Amino acid sequence: MSEKRIHNFNAGPAALPLPVLQEIQESFLNFKGSGMSITEVSHRSKWFDDVINDAIARIRRLLKLDDTYQVLFLQGGASLQFAMIPMNCLTDSDSADYVNTGTWATKAIQEAQLLEKNIKVVASSEDRGFCYIPENIAYSPKAAYVHITSNNTIKGTQWPVYPDVKGGPLVADMSSDFMSRPFDVKPFGLIYAGAQKNIGPAGVCVVIIRDDMLKRTPKNIPTMLKYTTHASKNSMYNTPPCFGVYTIQLVMKWLEETIGGLENMDAINRKKAKCLYDVMDKSRFYQGTADLSSRSLMNVTFRLPSEDLEKQFVQEALANDFGGLKGHRSVGGCRASIYNATTLASVQTLADFMITFERKNG
Ligand SMILES: *Cc1c(COP(=O)(O)O)cnc(C)c1O
Repeated sequence: MSEKRIHNFNAGPAALPLPVLQEIQESFLNFKGSGMSITEVSHRSKWFDDVINDAIARIRRLLKLDDTYQVLFLQGGASLQFAMIPMNCLTDSDSADYVNTGTWATKAIQEAQLLEKNIKVVASSEDRGFCYIPENIAYSPKAAYVHITSNNTIKGTQWPVYPDVKGGPLVADMSSDFMSRPFDVKPFGLIYAGAQKNIGPAGVCVVIIRDDMLKRTPKNIPTMLKYTTHASKNSMYNTPPCFGVYTIQLVMKWLEETIGGLENMDAINRKKAKCLYDVMDKSRFYQGTADLSSRSLMNVTFRLPSEDLEKQFVQEALANDFGGLKGHRSVGGCRASIYNATTLASVQTLADFMITFERKNG
């Protein structure tokens, strides 16, 4: 079996830190002397209790969460949160604000509308193909919450700073930049992130919910769709996604102990993004698709002069061990997803490859 690993620029599922994968491999057949794999132990065992509680404790420390926040591990991906949020946190007499910054935000809006909830799209960047984050938004003073998508995975835009909405709590889909940078959690009532972009494997979604939001859960929704169900049982009302939680625990340990926290992670991520944006900014061959002030530090999206060249670029990149550079099927072009686990060395190697490719084909 080949041990060769590629430079992984996949958008999700995406790269995981090599030391984490190695630790999983080493302990896979016999977890902590249990004589079982972590995928074989009971979720009611002390082994798994330690895993989930350590994962939660690390998330709390990394984000400096106070006691008013609870950390949940749910299934159904970020996509189920599009529905659970309005079901749980938006009563029929209230209205919530949504900012539409791309494909995923649009889906969140559609789910709330499907539930016939009262929502207001207070801003959208659809007029220019979602290539920017709207500014100077007039939020509703009495919004039950304001929903934003912190990083737009497909369009390659990211909120550089979170908006001061004055009224209701912020609710954020952080699927593709969760744990990539430090931020003040105080304005947030709820944060959610599908794990498979930045913190773990597919199959688990982290939800951080504040007590005031948790109190809103109505009685008449299915048990599994109530945040209160999961919060009252430490995410173990039913069988949780054990392997996903375990991997998240190890990624959080890596963030704390190897990287040294979110400030350090942010500094590395900024270096990585700069490396690629510098290539684009010095070139007329590579054209970034996002406005400068809205550029994502996680998903670097760009076009080449023609679709044929884009195809050739992706193919030659693959032959040189760069994976995942094809843009999302809905927008075409190219995209380098440079989440936490993608190393600066990989990104620098890609930047060199881009420069060489331009020299040969530009
Ligand atoms: C990938 C992604 C989603 C969808 O996540 P699933 O876990 O597949 O449901 C939602 N929002 C954002 C920002 C994403 O990047």
